[in-house]
Amino acid sequence: MNAFASPAGGSVLVIGGGLVGASLAIALDAAGVAATLVEAAAPRTDAQPSYDERNLALARATVNGLEAIGVWRHAAACATPIRHIRVSRADEFGSARIDAEKHGVDALGWTLPARELGAALLHRLDECTRLTRLAPAKLASLQPLSGGWRAQVEAADGTRSLDTPLLVGADGTQSFVRAQLGIDTERHDYRQTLFVCTVTAEREHANRAWERFSDAGPVALLPLAERRCGLVLTVAAAEAEAVATLDDAGFIALAQRRFGWRLGRLSRPGKRHPYAIQRVAANLLTAPHAVLVGNAAQTVHPIGAQGFNLGLRDALTLAELVAAAPDPGAPGLLARYAARRAPDREGTMAMSHGLVQLACLSQPLLAPLRSLALLACDRLPPLQRVLARRGMGFRGEPPLAVLERLP
Ligand SMILES: Cc1cc2nc3c(=O)[nH]c(=O)nc-3n(C[C@H](O)[C@H](O)[C@H](O)COP(=O)(O)OP(=O)(O)OC[C@H]3O[C@@H](n4cnc5c(N)ncnc54)[C@H](O)[C@@H]3O)c2cc1C
Repeated sequence: MNAFASPAGGSVLVIGGGLVGASLAIALDAAGVAATLVEAAAPRTDAQPSYDERNLALARATVNGLEAIGVWRHAAACATPIRHIRVSRADEFGSARIDAEKHGVDALGWTLPARELGAALLHRLDECTRLTRLAPAKLASLQPLSGGWRAQVEAADGTRSLDTPLLVGADGTQSFVRAQLGIDTERHDYRQTLFVCTVTAEREHANRAWERFSDAGPVALLPLAERRCGLVLTVAAAEAEAVATLDDAGFIALAQRRFGWRLGRLSRPGKRHPYAIQRVAANLLTAPHAVLVGNAAQTVHPIGAQGFNLGLRDALTLAELVAAAPDPGAPGLLARYAARRAPDREGTMAMSHGLVQLACLSQPLLAPLRSLALLACDRLPPLQRVLARRGMGFRGEPPLAVLERLP
């Protein structure tokens, strides 16, 4: 166990036990680091807002990381491999295909319902031996100390005071920690709403993930067990109310118009969940004795399927650095963290934002350029190698836990 030399004493304090905060707490425990995890929701998959019906596309690097911290064995049975990715745009000629086999791997990534990943995280959290868990419990205020922070945490049995040499904000897009640290954000409202549900396809999806762009916004289909697929349909925010009131037949007709007939007739839509989409990027990743991870650090458009993938790399990089240091809140460690995360963070945010902007803009002059870009991704092997590597989650200086391990 790390003997912390920080004057504030106490263990690493993680605020927020969503997908990223829970993964960080597990990674710290696995590395022998004492930590406390504070989560506002009760520790049940039906109580946690981010363990919901969304279907996550997990990059290969993410699955390596979840394996390394002992989470994947609790989730693997519910995951579906993605062996092919197809990207295209309605009414334009170019399209890009990425195939796992061509890149020497069995899968580019896996699809997993967030609810199943949440259940696997809760299972693995129960096995942790050095971790203190407070849930439901809420961070109410913060006070700076010499060498750390004092946190007031409200739980059912009263308020407690926790001192920490390293405060981690893993508390999501509206991060309270970020606001208390005085870290500003840059925001972009996409004026889009995403509808997420499962559908059944007439034809086999053959482990393909589809991403289709149009003037009306992107639509994605992710492979699930048997002929089920996870549908992600974007509509303009102004149309969201009308789409929400469509009956199943009307919603399927809309999905079919937007996605086309590649998988034959779509049917049996599950319960629809709407999400308003914005991009929120913290201007700084660290403050004295504090760091932001996951959606608290950056919230990206879900259509690129990067949010959790990026957040897990935040968590695993932080756990790796803290495990190797005597003081988890040391300025040098935080500077190393910010420097290591910068290329991956900036590249992934730019890719997600750029993808939505470029692929959905309706200017006719862009059409030939876009088609050529998709064709280039499809036909130029070096470009494809770079894209496939990045798509699999290997960017910048990745945490050691996500690198391939030989059998
Ligand atoms: C429709 C949709 C589809 C997506 N698809 C993908 C995908 O395919 N692939 C992918 O990688 N990503 C995807 N994402 C993104 C991914 O879901 C998020 O990036 C991820 O859930 C962020 O996790 P987090 O733990 O950082 O934040 P959150 O999940 O928001 O968790 C924050 C936690 O902090 C807690 N909290 C907040 N305030 C306090 C407080 N004061 N005290 C204590 N606890 C507090 C909350 O209760 C919550 O549990 C998708 C997102 C959406 C909306």
